[in-house]
Amino acid sequence: MLEGVEQIIHQTDPYQLASRKPHNENTVIKLDNLKIGGGNFTLIAGPCAVENPEQITKTAKFLKEEGINFLRAGAYKPRTSPYSFQGLGEEGLILLGRVKEETGLKIVTEALDINTMPLISEYADIIQIGTRNMQNFPLLKSAGAINKPILLKRGMTATLNELLLSAEYILKEGNPNVILCERGIRTFNDHSRTTLDLGAIPVLKEKTHLPVLVDPSHACGHSSRVPALSRAALSVGADGLLIEVHDDPASALSDGLQSLDLPEFSKLYNQIQTLAEVLQRKVN
Ligand code: PEP
Ligand code: MN
Repeated sequence: MLEGVEQIIHQTDPYQLASRKPHNENTVIKLDNLKIGGGNFTLIAGPCAVENPEQITKTAKFLKEEGINFLRAGAYKPRTSPYSFQGLGEEGLILLGRVKEETGLKIVTEALDINTMPLISEYADIIQIGTRNMQNFPLLKSAGAINKPILLKRGMTATLNELLLSAEYILKEGNPNVILCERGIRTFNDHSRTTLDLGAIPVLKEKTHLPVLVDPSHACGHSSRVPALSRAALSVGADGLLIEVHDDPASALSDGLQSLDLPEFSKLYNQIQTLAEVLQRKVN
């Protein structure tokens, strides 16, 4: 009855901006002519970490030739042990900048803290926030103030409500381009690194308009299981995959066991393209 009021929507979700109510349209993230979300199926691939110029150049050129558009590699790595390889830091970003220039691939890389966020945003096309930082609220706020899409991974012990509220932190600061990623959760399972929660995908698609990717590599921790979980992710309606690929997994400085080698990646990519056609999804 008030002048100027056309419609009242009763919002019962605590994550108001991430909620499908009232934003019924899927968020589609556009990077030049590439689109994430809205029926597209996006493949993001690359080694866990940038290790040296030869490694990242070889992998990037291979992926480009395969038809992949997004290269993901960490320069700053969140490692469980302080004695493990921590990433090349700024030197890694510079190498990513070079391969981007050479190949035109879009760069996805992780920010671990607010201090390096501005530097990382100079090199990255998409900034990843990892599972361990899903509830690092200052980091989420700083991601919200940046003009780059954010790939937000689900915390290893986070509920979907918590994941969506973390996305809300970014959206609330004015950055509408958030991509969610299911990467496995901690359960009683001891047969697998974590448990890929595929059931979360259709639930997230009901609850939010944001694109949802699946990372089978970190979820299962073993390259032999990545293809099956990747096909399953496409089948349950994910918007894309994040896959670890290394030119020589046995010598990888991090996550070698779960990294596909180059021929294994080619084989999986072919399977994904075939399955996507059946499901009428456009692979990019
Ligand atoms: C990674 O992507 O290499 C990574 C560390 O992922 P997560 O945060 O999911 O463990
Ligand atoms: Mn990794």
